Amino acid sequence: MTANATRVLVLNSGSSSVKYQLLDMADGSRLAVGLVERIGETISRLAHTPLATGGAKREREEPFADHAAALNAVAAELAADGLGLDSPELAAIGHRVVHGGKQFTEPTVITDEVLAEIERLIPVAPLHNPANVTGIRTAQALRPDLPQVAVFDTAFHTTMPEAAARYAIDVETADAHRIRRYGFHGTSHAYVSRETAKLLGKDPSEVNVIVLHLGNGASASAVRGGKCVDTSMGLTPLEGLVMGTRSGDTDPAVIFHLARTAGMSVDEIDSLLNKKSGLIGLCGDNDMREIRRRIDEGDEQAALAFDIYVHRLKKYIGAYYAVLGKVDAVAFTAGVGENAAPVREAAVAGLEELGLAVDAGLNGIRSDAARLISPESARVAVAVVPTDEELEIATQTYALVSS
Ligand code: AMP
Repeated sequence: MTANATRVLVLNSGSSSVKYQLLDMADGSRLAVGLVERIGETISRLAHTPLATGGAKREREEPFADHAAALNAVAAELAADGLGLDSPELAAIGHRVVHGGKQFTEPTVITDEVLAEIERLIPVAPLHNPANVTGIRTAQALRPDLPQVAVFDTAFHTTMPEAAARYAIDVETADAHRIRRYGFHGTSHAYVSRETAKLLGKDPSEVNVIVLHLGNGASASAVRGGKCVDTSMGLTPLEGLVMGTRSGDTDPAVIFHLARTAGMSVDEIDSLLNKKSGLIGLCGDNDMREIRRRIDEGDEQAALAFDIYVHRLKKYIGAYYAVLGKVDAVAFTAGVGENAAPVREAAVAGLEELGLAVDAGLNGIRSDAARLISPESARVAVAVVPTDEELEIATQTYALVSS
C-alpha cells in the first residue's frame, strides 16, 4: 500500500442490491455514494452521486444480470469521476458481512479460509451471507491485488457473557446447530456507543450506555465500558423490539400453534413473523411518519401500534438498566430514533425515578448532529446520535490495512 492510499470503498451487498460509498480516510470525507437496486430483474437501477466533484446524482436504468454486472457499472461510474477502482489511492474494500458467528470478533482481512468460513455460516444467515459472499467474490475479481476486509454485524456482540448469549434450551442441541444469541447491527451499536461517550466528554471505557437502534429493523444493546453485554436480536434479527415488519419477541409456542391450528407451513410462519408483523402487521404501515400522521387524525389502530412499539422499547430500557446496574446515557439512533421525537418522549416517559427524562424543547429540535435531549439536571443523559455504519466500516477497514 502506498502512503497516499487513503481511500476505502465500502460495499453493502444485499440479495438484489448493492449500497456503496467511497471514503477518504485522510479526513473521513465521502467522495461518492450510490445504490444499485433490483439486480437480476428486467430493469435494474443505479443511482450514483459523485460528492467529490460536487456533481449531481446520476441515475441509470438497465438490466444488471448479477452482482458482477452491477459492480462493473459502479466501477465505470466511479472512473468517470476520476475515482476509478484502479487508482493507487484506493487502500482497500470494506464489506459489510451480516453474520460472523462466534468466531469473527474483529474486522478480518478476507482470505480463502475466511471466505469459506463466511459460507459455512450461511445456515444461520440464509438471507444475508450468500449476498455478502457474492459481493466479496465480485470485488475480488475486480481488484485481486487489493486487501478486502469483512466487517461483521455480529462482531461487537461477541463480548456478551454466556449468561446473555445462551438460550435456555438443551445445550447439546443448541451447540450442534450453533443456536445462540449473536445480535446484529453491531457496527451501529459500536459507533453510536463510542460517539455517545464522546458527547459526554468521556472515554468509552468510562461509561455505560443503552443504545436504541430504531430503523426499519430495530435493536437495543447494553454497553458497559465500551463492550456489549447484552443485545435484543438473537440467532436471527427477528428477536427483540417491535420493528417495521418483524414481530420481535413472541412466545415461541405461537409458531406451534399456527402450525397445528392454522395449518401454516414453516415458510409461511417465517414470512408472517419477518415480513407481515411488527408495525405493518399491527396497522398496515411500517413508516413511523405515516403512523404519526394517522394518530394525529385520530386513527386508533395506528395509536395501538405505536403504543405496542413503545411498550416493548420501554421494557428493554428497563431490562438493560438492570443488566448494567448504572447507566450514564441512553442513545437513540437510526431512522426512527434520530427523527421521531414522539417515540423518544414516550419511551422515556414515566422513568424519572430511574433518572431518565427528556426536555421537550431539546427533543423537538431537528438536527443532524449528535446532541443531548435530557434536562441539564438529569442523572442519566438521553442523546440522539446519528449512526454512520459506512464510516465505521471504512474506519475499521482502514485501521486494519494501514496498521
Ligand atoms: P432506517 O432503517 O434506519 O433507514 O430507518 C427507516 C425508518 O425510519 C422508516 O421506515 C421510518 O419509519 C423512519 N423515519 C425516517 N424518517 C423519519 C421521520 N422524519 N420521522 C419519523 N420516522 C422516520
